[in-house]
Amino acid sequence: MMGLMQDRPLLISSLLTHVEQYHGDSAVVGIPCEGGAVHQSWADTARRARQGAQALARLGVAQGDRVATLAWNTHRHLELYFAVPGIGAVLHTVNPRLFAEQIEYIVNHGGAEVLAFDLPFLDLVDQLAERLPRLRHRIVMTDPEHMPAGRDDLLCYETLLAAETGTLDWPTLDERAASGLCYTSGTTGNPKGVLYSHRSTVLHAFLCCQADGLHLSRADSTLLAVPLFHVNAWGIPYASAMCGAKLVLPGPKLDGKSLFDLATDQGCTFSLGVPTVWIGLLRYLDEAGIDPALLPFQRLLIGGSAAPRALIERFHHAGVHAFQAWGMSETSPLATVATLLPHHRALPLDRQIDVLARQGRAMFGVELRIVDDAGQALPHDGVVTGELMVRGPWVLSGYFGGVGDAVLDADGWFATGDVARIDPEGFVTLTDRSKDVIKSGGEWISSIELENAALGHPAVEAAAVVGVAHERWQERPLMLVMRKPDQNPAAKEIITFLSERVARWWLPDDVVFVDSLPLTATGKLDKKVLRQQYRDYLLSAGTGG
Ligand code: AMP
Repeated sequence: MMGLMQDRPLLISSLLTHVEQYHGDSAVVGIPCEGGAVHQSWADTARRARQGAQALARLGVAQGDRVATLAWNTHRHLELYFAVPGIGAVLHTVNPRLFAEQIEYIVNHGGAEVLAFDLPFLDLVDQLAERLPRLRHRIVMTDPEHMPAGRDDLLCYETLLAAETGTLDWPTLDERAASGLCYTSGTTGNPKGVLYSHRSTVLHAFLCCQADGLHLSRADSTLLAVPLFHVNAWGIPYASAMCGAKLVLPGPKLDGKSLFDLATDQGCTFSLGVPTVWIGLLRYLDEAGIDPALLPFQRLLIGGSAAPRALIERFHHAGVHAFQAWGMSETSPLATVATLLPHHRALPLDRQIDVLARQGRAMFGVELRIVDDAGQALPHDGVVTGELMVRGPWVLSGYFGGVGDAVLDADGWFATGDVARIDPEGFVTLTDRSKDVIKSGGEWISSIELENAALGHPAVEAAAVVGVAHERWQERPLMLVMRKPDQNPAAKEIITFLSERVARWWLPDDVVFVDSLPLTATGKLDKKVLRQQYRDYLLSAGTGG
């Protein structure tokens, strides 16, 4: 017997309709690329999104069509987050930090006919013009005063909006229809597209608003320090509309000073981003002699790559509840969140931080398990490590265009490529990306745990560990360290520090001091580059064997 409840679709447009009706006066603050600041309400955002939707329809954008963006976190980009899927089209956010060739591949593969971009990317768009043959319209996300002169081939975002009434009934769509497209970092082979649906997006937004999720609510003022082109800014724009949270969009400036000034100015209670952003913020505070206790945040989510324990600790000592979450483009992205259980709350702060520094527990809807090389399930005993597998209604079922063929196993599990252990309470600890694991004489060494240990040293600003060729052990760990300004520890000092924290055979064979570490386009350590650069380091240094 079937239930007799209404089968109303879960649509992105309903998030916007809700926020307009119930939280219309809640604010959206954006720093556009032209400078200055834009203060508008969620009601303004809803109206402008409808105008944007009308303009796109007038340009011929129909259901299923892709609209690509090359843009920072601005109020206009946020409006497209609703305007595009609202009319059944697909928002394809492209990371402008990628190489031109990668952008060309991704835009062409996504098949967009309309590209909306920020003014600073004009040269890039011009450079690619002839290599993006499908594009019919290029929209500059600016106002008429800032439009490049003599460019009749470009459309102006604000001019397009001004021509529309903003009166529109959003169409009723199939909730399983595609709403967004995002390409994975693609560390091997070509990037692959993950195609989100209205249903997966709305369900993911519920997770963000759960108390044991990201606890997002109307009481929050969120500084969006993760770009809108990085996995839908971890779902926060849609979740903010669901609960009416104020949203602060920092535009192109993600440096420590800009973030601190904006967060303070806007009374931001919550923020989220990759570790490098937070390391940059703390470095700025140290250099400027600002007490981190002046940070306005109550909560801070660190994700996207392993959050060093020392980083989480510094925020807690400043009164900010920093915590970790794990996910990937393929999981929308949030899958696990580190939340204290009741019995953790009685523990001393140090022990609580140990809990929050793990990748966290599965939220309802996400199923997890770890498997061995043969695909056999491994115990959740907090000791054994295996490949992390995930299943759930906001986990992909296949890549866009059928790339990679069938990506799920017979039971519907997606292999994440991450290596982890799961403890009996369900807390996941990620030990590595499978390609970053260091295989030394048949045993595995966790690069993440070594990096975490090094970051506990007061002179270490950033650390990366990669496996490099070794005559006897096939691979041994090599540690690259960026020192803090005016700090000069010797390699031996770092090794001694590590020897008190990790097994002896895990100790890096050498520590190399570097001025910078390569980052990917989403701000993560680019270990592929380091592996190539240092592959023969131990052999050529004559220490192999
Ligand atoms: P992307 O799809 O570009 O967001 O990359 C997803 C990958 O980032 C995951 O598969 C992990 O390897 C890594 N990642 C994300 N969050 C974390 C985390 N909290 N700790 C460690 N690695 C993470």
